[in-house]
Amino acid sequence: GGYPRLFSPWQVGHLTLPNRVVMGSMHMGLEDSHADLPRLAEFYAERARGGVGLIVTGGFAPNRLGRLSPGAGMLATRKDAEAHRVVTDAVHGEGGHILAQLLHAGRYAQSPLQVSASRTRAPISPVTAFALPTAAVRRTVRDFVRAAGWARQAGYDGVEVMASEGYLINQFLAPATNRRTDCYGGSARNRRRFLEEIVTGIRQAAGEGFVISVRLSMVDLVQDGQTLEETLDAARAVERCGADLINTGIGWHEARVPTIVTSVPRAAFATATARVKDVVDIPVSASNRITLPHTAEQILSADQADAVTMARPFLADGHWVRKAQADHEQAITPCIGCNQACLDHVFSGRTVTCLVNPRAGRETEEPYTRLGMPAMPSAGRDDGALRVAVVGGGPAGLAAAHAAAEAGHAVTLFEEQERVGGQFRLARRIPGKEEFAEALAHFRHRLEPLGVDVRTGVRADAAILTGGAGEPAFDHVVVATGVVPRELDIPGIDRPEVHAYPDVVDGTVTCGDTVAVIGAGGIGVDVAELLTTPADHPHGAFQEHADWEREWGVDPDFGGRGGLAPRTAPAVPRTVHLLQRSPGRIGARLGATTGWVHRGTLKARGVVQHSGVRYLRIDDAGLHIEVTRTVGRLRKRTEVSRKVLAVTDVVVCAGQESEASLAVRLRAAGMPEERIHVVGGALKAGEIDAKRAIDEAVRAVARI
Ligand code: NAP
Ligand code: SF4
Repeated sequence: GGYPRLFSPWQVGHLTLPNRVVMGSMHMGLEDSHADLPRLAEFYAERARGGVGLIVTGGFAPNRLGRLSPGAGMLATRKDAEAHRVVTDAVHGEGGHILAQLLHAGRYAQSPLQVSASRTRAPISPVTAFALPTAAVRRTVRDFVRAAGWARQAGYDGVEVMASEGYLINQFLAPATNRRTDCYGGSARNRRRFLEEIVTGIRQAAGEGFVISVRLSMVDLVQDGQTLEETLDAARAVERCGADLINTGIGWHEARVPTIVTSVPRAAFATATARVKDVVDIPVSASNRITLPHTAEQILSADQADAVTMARPFLADGHWVRKAQADHEQAITPCIGCNQACLDHVFSGRTVTCLVNPRAGRETEEPYTRLGMPAMPSAGRDDGALRVAVVGGGPAGLAAAHAAAEAGHAVTLFEEQERVGGQFRLARRIPGKEEFAEALAHFRHRLEPLGVDVRTGVRADAAILTGGAGEPAFDHVVVATGVVPRELDIPGIDRPEVHAYPDVVDGTVTCGDTVAVIGAGGIGVDVAELLTTPADHPHGAFQEHADWEREWGVDPDFGGRGGLAPRTAPAVPRTVHLLQRSPGRIGARLGATTGWVHRGTLKARGVVQHSGVRYLRIDDAGLHIEVTRTVGRLRKRTEVSRKVLAVTDVVVCAGQESEASLAVRLRAAGMPEERIHVVGGALKAGEIDAKRAIDEAVRAVARI
């Protein structure tokens, strides 16, 4: 096969695993109630069926104070252990192996009562944590050991001790959060005593035949984090204490360096893992921004790690491993690192799913049960198949065509443009969003093997669809005709220096040296980033690691504490003004886990932000605006001022309007309502995004 290292067996403790892929810990939002565990079990079972050798669960707390939020899942009682049987049985039934992750949240607990190594407050938390007294530290060690015992009772093959990402154990390891004066603080030796006692305790209680993985922070990315030497010593120590595997953790949750979003280069942190691998004999697994088999194979063949840990790619495609093994890299639905349906859901208390695979995490829910597992290329279709037309080849249309073809229907996809892709074709041109191109390539290349009849450059009118044009009528029509950019009614809007965003994004128009962007939603922010990125400068997945490290202040040698270095302001090709009518800060409605990265980028690039704007006119002098600001200590008075932005270009990113006129024409032509399925932006343009569009598309198809 094409990935010899990835598919070579390896040993983790007593387990012999068939491939070097670990499915890393993800919080699915199904961990908290015992009643949800059967759903979680089916989610894991499907991934085990898909060939993944070792699965790590989301974090379970060893005691009440360790819970991520009140009511979060624990492994602390016999009842917990019994409830987890359904999970371990399901995974073992498919020939897989599974570790329970033990996570004590420490000062990241979303609770008024938090504990930590010392009395400190996390910048992302509203409350100050209490310092655990020495006796309570010892009790916590015992709770970890007991939790591992319950995990064993539940049938888990082992546990993973969460010692990274800024959770409690990491809070003990780093001087930033550990100012203790007892035997658990002070020297690096003392700071890691808590972790050592946990690993030793679990090993002593469990004996052999039970895997202990430690998710170790390779680099903290916070001020006063650990030094590289301390990290290496911690790795040596956990090996001595009986760990079988070291898994990679990168950066604390409060770190101001992005570590997993799509603008982070591929395998950006594998070099950190490689340093740890050099000093221990137990296997070490790399993680972060590894999404496709060729990246994984590269890491393994460069000897940077013994295995790779991926989490989100298993939301995007449960059969990642089997497809990679069959050399069908392009059949893998790639994770695009958007966080929109996974981590952003975690932070807003919703269960996790996936933008490109809305069935993830809902395998047992209607109507997703009616959709098969995204299958390997096949064109199995029987003669009695329904004729389904999908109109529009954007994300919604592509997803609908796939789902319908996989369900065995005879599918025709109509796209008015010469190429399919819709808004994804634009998104992939945004610096840092190059992965949309991979997702698009995946969807496009799968159409032919699935037997979809693709007709590009064709406007599907009601006559073709209802059988009036010499072709048999379609049984169902999915209207995925998407959106059109909103046009504004401002004096001067027809001037040549005013552009609709698609023309700027696809390169039809090149802007001058001062640009005003009207509208600061997802697209306005993307366009501002595009306009402030030097042309021909690879970004995102393919950016040079060194460039990216300079931009975000990461020390390539991990020399100082926390692995941080001074940030270097990037070269910016032009001045950009970003405007919105609403008051308040720009980008406030961007995703919880991605918005801060975008806001940080805009700031670093010197993008001038204007809120509370009224657009007056555009003329030779530029864009005339009126700005309303709240002033005074109580922000109760408003102050109105007028100004002219002397810009060379104006780009309109003022949202979208639905394009669904086809549905009206189909109804007029007599097509019954239940055979017309309007989805995505065509259904509702407000706040449309690919997540909603794809989900609506596959649900509509499941109901056909
Ligand atoms: P959007 O997020 O709805 O933003 C539209 C912007 O235009 C807002 O800033 C709005 O702000 C402004 N606007 C609306 N009506 C206007 C009018 N009549 N005159 C002037 N300004 C007006 O839409 P979008 O930026 O087009 O993005 C579309 C969707 O794509 C988004 O919902 C987003 O979810 C998705 N997307 C997501 C990402 C991501 O990174 N997750 C990136 C790109 C796109 P004011 O009303 O305050 O002026
Ligand atoms: Fe990846 Fe986005 Fe899916 Fe999350 S929602 S798994 S980031 S594609």
